[in-house]
Amino acid sequence: MTMLPEKLLTGYRTFMAQRYANETMRYRQLAEQGQTPETLVIACCDSRAAPEIIFDTSPGEIFVIRNVANLVPPYEPDGEYHATSAALEFAVQSLKVKNIVVLGHGRCGGIKAALDTESKPLSPGDFIGKWMSLVAPAAEAVAANELMTPFERQTALERISIRYSLRNLRSFPCVDILEKKGRLTLHGAWFDISTGELWVMNPETGDFLRPDPELVDLQPGQ
Ligand SMILES: [Zn+2]
Repeated sequence: MTMLPEKLLTGYRTFMAQRYANETMRYRQLAEQGQTPETLVIACCDSRAAPEIIFDTSPGEIFVIRNVANLVPPYEPDGEYHATSAALEFAVQSLKVKNIVVLGHGRCGGIKAALDTESKPLSPGDFIGKWMSLVAPAAEAVAANELMTPFERQTALERISIRYSLRNLRSFPCVDILEKKGRLTLHGAWFDISTGELWVMNPETGDFLRPDPELVDLQPGQ
């Protein structure tokens, strides 16, 4: 009987022997005192874009919401199931995080699907189609631009969707009020999985810039 994939069990044993062994006190402290992360990261489900790895964080440091294409839906208190809004509510109202980072990434499958106007639903429920319709107006405008290459369109929509998500974040009254009081700061960032580059959004212009371009240039083998 296989309880878990062997790769996961092997990884868990390594975690216990190394990370947990080195950080036992930290885990015990977090268990007794609870978590107090200062930052909420909203990231994609993509297995290549894990925020805990990209930001080299310790347990308890960042609170993470992951969904397809790191989208934030608008504030809709309609009694339906809203996983992202529920986690956002908890992070802002209970944990009182000081920062929210919407972290997009290159080669995002969700964004690719949104740009592919001929793609068929993966299942009758078409959950991805419904979810990605959050960025449909931008996706249609970008997809129709024949002056851009497919790669440029993809990167453009990945970054536009981050700005969309930041706008939707501000539609939540708790986020809007705390940001205006200066107790909460919103950020956008985009991670290039092929080079490791992190591009950070300038909050005033919406442009994405590399804060540490020399970091990538120093990588061995480049
Ligand atoms: Zn993605």
